[in-house]
Amino acid sequence: MEKSSANSVAIIGGGPVGLAAAAHALERGLKPIVLEAGPRAGDAVRQWSHVRMFSPWEDDVDRASKALLDEIGWNAPEPSHYPTGGELLAQYIALLAERSPLMEHIRTSSRVVAISRSGFDKVKTLGRESAPFAIRYQNGAGIVSLEADAVIDASGTWQHPNPAGANGLDAIGEREAQDAIAYGMPDVLGRDRARYAGMRVAVLGAGHSAIGPLIDLVRLAELVPGTQPIWLLRADNPEKAFGGGANDKLAARGELGATFARLVKDGRLALETSYRVTHISKTDAGLRIGAGSACCGRHVMVDELIVTTGFRPDFSFARELRLSLDPALECPPALAPLIDPNVHSCGTVRPHGARELAQPEPGFYIAGMKSYGRAPTFLMLTGYEQVRSIIADIAGDREAAERVELVLPETGVCSGSPLDEDAAASCCGSAAESSQKPAPAKLPGGCCTPAPAQPAAAGCCS
Ligand SMILES: Cc1cc2nc3c(=O)[nH]c(=O)nc-3n(C[C@H](O)[C@H](O)[C@H](O)COP(=O)(O)OP(=O)(O)OC[C@H]3O[C@@H](n4cnc5c(N)ncnc54)[C@H](O)[C@@H]3O)c2cc1C
Repeated sequence: MEKSSANSVAIIGGGPVGLAAAAHALERGLKPIVLEAGPRAGDAVRQWSHVRMFSPWEDDVDRASKALLDEIGWNAPEPSHYPTGGELLAQYIALLAERSPLMEHIRTSSRVVAISRSGFDKVKTLGRESAPFAIRYQNGAGIVSLEADAVIDASGTWQHPNPAGANGLDAIGEREAQDAIAYGMPDVLGRDRARYAGMRVAVLGAGHSAIGPLIDLVRLAELVPGTQPIWLLRADNPEKAFGGGANDKLAARGELGATFARLVKDGRLALETSYRVTHISKTDAGLRIGAGSACCGRHVMVDELIVTTGFRPDFSFARELRLSLDPALECPPALAPLIDPNVHSCGTVRPHGARELAQPEPGFYIAGMKSYGRAPTFLMLTGYEQVRSIIADIAGDREAAERVELVLPETGVCSGSPLDEDAAASCCGSAAESSQKPAPAKLPGGCCTPAPAQPAAAGCCS
């Protein structure tokens, strides 16, 4: 067992928010160690490297991380440019993780598999808060143990996509048909092109993660005859999926929704509404995707299915810790009313920090994408503010932990009603690089909910 050092902070996940947590910890003289499951930091972002983001560079960079990059003479990108995931990796995450002083604090190919408190199981209380955390992770050599005084779980949700089944369970037969199903945002026009060219491809979902692949499939159909995109929508009305258009404060996102709306209206893709998938089976004629009863419900026949129904957090490795989560969203309870997609049409979220993100387990915090649980509206900038506050809390600077330092751009979608079930399950995914031309500027103006007491951010994906 590796011994803990005073003020040591273990950070699970080397995504942009986990790295930012480590940068803030270094700034405060703490001893961070980032455990990243992938072979390099930013492994989740790497999976969507072909996607152009809705946030320009000025909203994608953490302040403490920038300070570390400046030490090595960072050539900062143009603030108003909208990077792809790949650009975010190459021009920010990789430099931070592999060239800045942070590099000595990151262990890659290190997947956390369990956490407890040294000498304490979940039930034992007396003296619990002063026992260090015991973190087990798997690397090439096997299982390794590490002790730390505090833990920040910034492990994201990317590796745990929601299934196709409309009830949140796998559709019957979904597991058996895995080789014809992709989850998330495949690179339809790039590395995954051969898989989809000339195929009948259904895309299930309503958020921008669905819109991106659908727009690309329409483009692929222009290039490769026989490619047939089919949009499977759980809702009865596609209009809601088009987003806020010109009212969208994230202009690139509004532009994308408008482009997609035109394609749908022009009949460039087939559309099935009120389509709640229940069964999937492989047949000689292709993949049969059924909605309703197995015998006599509706069905479509395709070659491939892309499922973009959002993501969910995985807390299995934290089973021995005392956690409190909102029963619906699986996020820290204090956050739920701020981000509940059943309630918010604008996704307006006040900046928040250690207080909202703390758990009954003292010293354990959930941050980043994972802190939003199943809600789809997370913004990187919000995550940077979260970890600034958490690290201040760990360092004992309560005043800084309570303070709100974030000035968030207005990024709401003033499209009226709360999100429907599809949009609630969707994610922030934007269009594949080639299919989207970001609009140059954000629109001015407020969001449609009453002004909050503090600066507010809106999610990127409603
Ligand atoms: C397609 C897409 C587009 C987006 N566009 C925007 C945008 O334009 N603007 C914006 O603000 N936000 C955007 N987001 C939302 C969000 O900001 C990003 O997902 C961001 O990457 C979240 O950062 P994170 O560090 O919380 O999580 P992640 O980037 O998901 O990083 C989590 C890391 O944890 C690692 N990990 C997972 N499990 C373990 C484990 N058990 N042990 C160790 N490591 C583990 C993963 O390998 C990963 O590297 C987008 C999201 C997606 C999916």
